[in-house]
Amino acid sequence: MSRISYHFHCILQAKLNFFISICILFLLISSCAKAQIAPSQYSREDILKGSITPEREWWDAIHYDLTIQVKPELKFITGVNNVSYKVLKPYQIIQIDLQEPMKLLAAVQDGKELSFRNEGAAYFIKLDKKQKKGKLNELVLKFEGSPVEGKRLPWDGGWTWQEDANGKTFAANANQGIGSSVWWPNKDIPYDEVDGLDFHITVPKGLVAVGNGKLVDSSSTEETTTYNWTVKNPINSYGISADIADYAHFSDSYTGEKGTLDLNFYVLKENLEKAKEQFKQVPQMLEAFEHWFGPYPFYEDGYKLVEVPYLGMEHQSNVTYGNGYSNGYLGRDLSGSGWGLKFDYIIIHESGHEWFANNITNKDVADMWVHESFTTYSENLFVDYYYGKEASSDYVIGMRGSIRNDRPIIGTYGVDQEGSGDMYFKGANILHTLRQLIEDDEKWREILRCLNTEFYHQTVTTSQVENFISKKSNIDLSQFWEQYLRTTMIPKLEYVIDGSTLKFRYTDIVEDFDMPVQVNVNQTTEWIYPTAEWKTQSFDASISDFEIDRDFYIESKEIK
Ligand SMILES: [Zn+2]
Repeated sequence: MSRISYHFHCILQAKLNFFISICILFLLISSCAKAQIAPSQYSREDILKGSITPEREWWDAIHYDLTIQVKPELKFITGVNNVSYKVLKPYQIIQIDLQEPMKLLAAVQDGKELSFRNEGAAYFIKLDKKQKKGKLNELVLKFEGSPVEGKRLPWDGGWTWQEDANGKTFAANANQGIGSSVWWPNKDIPYDEVDGLDFHITVPKGLVAVGNGKLVDSSSTEETTTYNWTVKNPINSYGISADIADYAHFSDSYTGEKGTLDLNFYVLKENLEKAKEQFKQVPQMLEAFEHWFGPYPFYEDGYKLVEVPYLGMEHQSNVTYGNGYSNGYLGRDLSGSGWGLKFDYIIIHESGHEWFANNITNKDVADMWVHESFTTYSENLFVDYYYGKEASSDYVIGMRGSIRNDRPIIGTYGVDQEGSGDMYFKGANILHTLRQLIEDDEKWREILRCLNTEFYHQTVTTSQVENFISKKSNIDLSQFWEQYLRTTMIPKLEYVIDGSTLKFRYTDIVEDFDMPVQVNVNQTTEWIYPTAEWKTQSFDASISDFEIDRDFYIESKEIK
């Protein structure tokens, strides 16, 4: 918002654009600086995991051809990952990540086995062949082991080995946070996504293995079946998952903004009837989200919803589901407003991530609000689409009780450090507040849709998203983002009512924070323009009725 008056933004657009460019430059410089100087409380391991090391920087991951054989009775995986990569600048050591107790057995280039050393999960492989700029090379990684078992998936990460009602294997993995290197070797950092994936999963005969993207084919031997899956779009490595069970399969299609989208559902046989009923929410979700965010970002890969033995995860084009076939979040309404029981939280939330997390992916997990704030907010927009604007406000405002303001929403760069869990409920409320400032729902929708085209299939920094929204809305939101994303302070509006005049100012704000707020004065809605300085605004009649619009996430205090 800065010092520029909110209502005269069009005139000042040229100046603003210049100012925004300066801001972009400044933010880039400051985030780079943060990325390089990691605070001392972070370990070498954190830096190896979360930073763009010299051994990562020089190459661009292009494609993974991942083959695994899963032996559920031994909780054991053997596999090969063929990594295709492009040389961005000459370098002879490549970093590949794989966490213990998984073991890298061999690294091979052009048929020649290479030497390597490992430091925790980071393997530094010495490449014999000269790595020439612009060349496309391949590296073959052979691995095996019993991956870490998740004890409380999806929160900790790893594999889980369960059984269905008939005693058959029901296994899956989720690795957000811990990283995909918990079970397979790859470039385990979000800024670099491969352009596509081929995924071959071999399991004991009688089981179905579901991967990302579309099923190409399957073939069986006497003892095993191999399922070949392919992903034709950029994919983040934490979004890659394998789900294994004696699944029942059913399918459908959805006619959306980009044509026909294949929908495939894999559920335990005992839950087939319940799933056919509950999963009717998938086309409803697609209709609402395509309206607000634009086309589903992975038409070529289809959409799948797959039952797993944990709550759920936004695996790309392979959304996993374990919400018990009931509405709400494990049957509860996180907003307390009642609206949260109108939909299945996992179907809506995890699918919302196809737009924010899988289409637009953070480069550094410190900026994970780009995933979780927009996706939590997507729940509102689903409510808005089917139940209207008031319901949507009730829903998001109902979430405020869970905001902690313990740490800033943005975390620490370069050390694999997410910000506060407030990126969910507070994040959604920030975006809801922003919708009020834009004061034009069509424009707001256009911004949300444009985000998904501007950053289509890309990894981004928060600055890119912040500046893009400032630019599209014609509002300098620098102080708005600074306040809400980088501090734990909630702006407090102090006010005094004196006859027909209102005196007001902000406290608990960053410098130059001047977000306008809507208030209801004697049943009429008015904008006021508070800053850190006391201001006075006069009204026609004595103020008998005063209320701050509940849609703004601020605090207030009447001084009498
Ligand atoms: Zn989420």
